[in-house]
Amino acid sequence: MSWKIPLADIEIGNEEIKAVEEVLRSKWLSMGSVTQEFERKFAEFLGVRHALAVTNGTAALHLAHAALGLTAGDEVIVPSLTFVATANSIAYTGAAPVFAEIEGPDALNVAAMDIEQRITPRTKAITVVHYGGYPCDMDPILGVARRHKLSVIEDAAHAPGALYKGRKAGTFGDVACFSFFSNKNLTTGEGGMVVTDRDDLAERIRLMRSHGMTTLTWDRYRGHAHSYDVVAPGFNYRIDEIRSTLGLVQLQRLEVSNRRRQELVDKYRNMLASVPGLSMPFNDWHQVSANYIFPVLLDDRLQRPTFIESLKAEGIQTSIHYPPIHLFSYYRERYGYTEGSLPITEDACTREVTLPLYPLMGDKDVETVVGAVRRALG
Ligand SMILES: *Cc1c(COP(=O)(O)O)cnc(C)c1O
Repeated sequence: MSWKIPLADIEIGNEEIKAVEEVLRSKWLSMGSVTQEFERKFAEFLGVRHALAVTNGTAALHLAHAALGLTAGDEVIVPSLTFVATANSIAYTGAAPVFAEIEGPDALNVAAMDIEQRITPRTKAITVVHYGGYPCDMDPILGVARRHKLSVIEDAAHAPGALYKGRKAGTFGDVACFSFFSNKNLTTGEGGMVVTDRDDLAERIRLMRSHGMTTLTWDRYRGHAHSYDVVAPGFNYRIDEIRSTLGLVQLQRLEVSNRRRQELVDKYRNMLASVPGLSMPFNDWHQVSANYIFPVLLDDRLQRPTFIESLKAEGIQTSIHYPPIHLFSYYRERYGYTEGSLPITEDACTREVTLPLYPLMGDKDVETVVGAVRRALG
């Protein structure tokens, strides 16, 4: 299927190609100096002490939860309206994800009040997701965490460059995770980053990223070490130099491309305001979004299949973000969730449609999509 307007598209230019070629010619492909530079630049971009690059966003989330010492018997409160990796990565540690409601159809982020109601003596942490690039309302969430002495993990996969009250998403929790998957705001194909201001967590994540070993191949190559000890059964979640060099180039593009995303979203919001039959979440949310996706909610959930088909017939790709995690077979069977467990989340999930959004999209493309939306609902 070739789309007239795809859901997403990425910008890869000569700079990326040149950078990859340089790395290939250097013949050092595994984690080394380019990765260190990527980590340094990413930490500087966010204003955090530590940034550790990894294989993908899911590995970042696994390391974040593991480094906090989560284990069987613990509970972590997390939204159900997110990509399944957010919850899977909690389950990897043996801890149970406890799903919390979103604020409502106007703000699809996890609600602080609902988080607080789900706290038990087993609760150890809160994992938030900045849905679509819109930062969560962090003040009340951090308040709940402080009152109950819980750790906070940010899944910031959608939110590189987003701001909450002037401060970057990914700098609020004990630890935050980014994904550089192919369709994310900053891409390395596959890749991710864990960031933290806590030295103890950074140290633990560094070890667990590479087998629990106390030195790296890179250290030994440079003559800084001859051998190593293993202090924990770690993983191999290392990124490579090819991806890190892509990340460095893409990081330079991020501000400009996020700005373009914002222009396109502003245009969507203006044009769709007069279209009956749908609403736009985060229309009154005055924080700076990274605009990873542009979600709308149809008034009538029964209309969704024909709506999607109608746009498809005009060559416009859409998606759904997301089927709620608590209703996936594994989560129903393992943790006992059923339909009706999270009514606010379920309502939004059955009405949500994601419209195309990517920096290379033209103003005309937004007009084309809005025209098709109007016809689909009319
Ligand atoms: C993409 C994504 C992830 C997983 O990242 P990968 O790099 O694909 O492993 C995790 N959480 C959210 C919210 C995501 O969108």
